[in-house]
Amino acid sequence: MPGENSADSGQVVSEEGTELDKKRLDILTGKLKEKNLLNRGCVFCGEKDMVILGYKDEYPVILLNPPTKYYEAYAMACSNCGFVHTFMGEIIEGNGNG
Ligand SMILES: [Zn+2]
Repeated sequence: MPGENSADSGQVVSEEGTELDKKRLDILTGKLKEKNLLNRGCVFCGEKDMVILGYKDEYPVILLNPPTKYYEAYAMACSNCGFVHTFMGEIIEGNGNG
């Protein structure tokens, strides 16, 4: 029976290491883990190590046109090739309040 096996797993890290970074990191990795996708790796090169994007209370969004409206997002970059994986915040946070 498979348990909590973390062997052969990559990691998603926060570059800045601020409180909000860590909170968002936990939310994103928690959701990916829940979906069994955390160790899937980069869709482009397969690298397992990622860096979540953000700085203090600033984080990526998906802009609409005109850019006064946006979707909140989570993004992580592959530490090998730099491919950026972007996730809809509403789905990652699991609260469909919109
Ligand atoms: Zn990659």
